[in-house]
Amino acid sequence: MRVGVLALQGAFIEHQKILRQLGIETRQVRLPEHLDDIDALIIPGGESTTIRKLAKTYDLIEPLREFAEHKPVWGTCAGMIALAKDIGGEEPIVGAMNITVNRNAFGRQIDSFEADLMFEVLGDVPFHAIFIRAPIVTAIAGDVVVLSRLSDGRIVAVREGHLLATAFHPELTNDTRLHQYFLDIIAGQG
Ligand code: GLN
Repeated sequence: MRVGVLALQGAFIEHQKILRQLGIETRQVRLPEHLDDIDALIIPGGESTTIRKLAKTYDLIEPLREFAEHKPVWGTCAGMIALAKDIGGEEPIVGAMNITVNRNAFGRQIDSFEADLMFEVLGDVPFHAIFIRAPIVTAIAGDVVVLSRLSDGRIVAVREGHLLATAFHPELTNDTRLHQYFLDIIAGQG
């Protein structure tokens, strides 16, 4: 199994480190042809406007859309924004998931925070999540399943079949369970 990490901007190295820890071969994706020999893709956190701009420059938008139609893709933070079909009036980036997101939902005062999240799919031990200028999922449609919420009920992790999106940065903690969960999705066992 080989997992690509979109390496235009943002926290792609950290995702690669965790994947390698789990014994998975990784590939940095910067050009359309880099998508050819990978089984799945992670779109990291960073700045979604920059990711959009660079993806356009490298002619990656359409190849990413085609890839996400049938191969597993996980978007974290800015990557969640990239995957959303509705980002509030702006043109979607990849636009593969039936979610509406509000960018920078937490405003300036609390632009970064940490929270312990419960995930049914991860069992009884909470996942310590780091949020950095994070988006929030404000609406879901289609076959989207909510995987986790903040204690006030706001949605921060969702899955739609082979597509996964988390509002926080799982690559910045030592907890590898969400990466393992994504690998299980790729293997058809998640
Ligand atoms: N606020 C950023 C954006 O709009 C996302 C932040 C992040 O990925 N940590 O793209």
